[in-house]
Amino acid sequence: LKHYINGFPEESDLMIVTAPDTMELKVKPGSSTILVKNLFLSCDPYMGTFMREPDSGSSEVAVETLSLLDAFIPGKPIAGVGVSEVIDSDDPCFAKGDFVWGIVDWEEYSTVNSFGRFKIDISINVPLSYYTGILSVTGLTAYAGFFEICSPKKGEAVFVSAAAGAVGQLVGQFAKLMGCYVVGSAGSKQKVDLLLNKFGFDDAFNYKEEPDLDATLKRCLPQGIDIYFENVGGKMLDSVLMNMKVHGRIAVCGMISQYHTETQEGIKNLPVVVYKRIKMQGFLAFDFIDRFPKYLEFVLPYIKERKLVYVEDIVEGLENGPAALVGLFRGQNIGKQVLKIA
Ligand code: NDP
Repeated sequence: LKHYINGFPEESDLMIVTAPDTMELKVKPGSSTILVKNLFLSCDPYMGTFMREPDSGSSEVAVETLSLLDAFIPGKPIAGVGVSEVIDSDDPCFAKGDFVWGIVDWEEYSTVNSFGRFKIDISINVPLSYYTGILSVTGLTAYAGFFEICSPKKGEAVFVSAAAGAVGQLVGQFAKLMGCYVVGSAGSKQKVDLLLNKFGFDDAFNYKEEPDLDATLKRCLPQGIDIYFENVGGKMLDSVLMNMKVHGRIAVCGMISQYHTETQEGIKNLPVVVYKRIKMQGFLAFDFIDRFPKYLEFVLPYIKERKLVYVEDIVEGLENGPAALVGLFRGQNIGKQVLKIA
């Protein structure tokens, strides 16, 4: 991180630093640490809020709540979920050649401790990059948010925003597997085509081309919405509220449209939460970390049997990391944004 941001993250807020080539690729005996070579890094919207000064409002809340992670510090590497190969280890649970995922700094090599590091079973024949997304936090977010917060029932009407993104594509497909009627919104024609033709959504629209979101939702979901999986906030949430059914559920996963703008209009329609007895609950994937084994048991058969499609947008090279990360806030990614660095 070059400096704290005050507004939308830009590529120029990040910098690449080449350290002198003196790093010994070994861990200190007795340190209980492991040295890893980082292979894939996950780009996530919360990382933008971590680029703000910790006492500047929203990021403070985010950083406090995600207590597993430290706020980013100017002059230091940013960090996030990454997939790595163990190069050297002073921890008996990890051996040279193992593959792991967990939080790592955005750098080529990291010395890390084993807390919060998950060993990857490479006999499960899936791309290693999946452990930045569908087989890690992204997947758990979609699973816990949809099944635990929304309590879906067969035949219910589900609406997902940012539906062609990392979390959204999975929520939509989980809802289809449950036998729900699923509609998604996304920010381009290409993404809408993907929702309809690849992820199996029943209907989809480009929210940027719909001047009256309320009317669009009424057209796509004339009987109303039982479940809204909220990824964007702002105007979309306001319109969704007017289209929720009585006793509907809203899983508040994220509100990306509100992370970096101070001028967002207030949500006018919040009182309908009362009249319609809507259950609206925020959550963090980390709250459900104990469900992770259950989630893997659920999702792996669907991946193996190709009953679940997973689209990744893989950019190569650490030098392209800043563009990949800030691209999330411009909707440049199609599917899960991943950075491949080795
Ligand atoms: P995505 O892969 O969905 O990427 C972000 C997408 O958001 C963009 O591609 C863009 O798609 C959309 N977007 C960006 N700006 C706006 C805007 N102003 N209005 C509407 N849409 C916008 O990211 P993730 O799937 O990783 O994250 C989705 C949401 O889930 C985020 O809000 C994130 O913070 C949250 N999240 C929450 C977690 C939790 O534990 N609660 C964990 C992980 C993610 P488009 O082209 O459609 O506009």
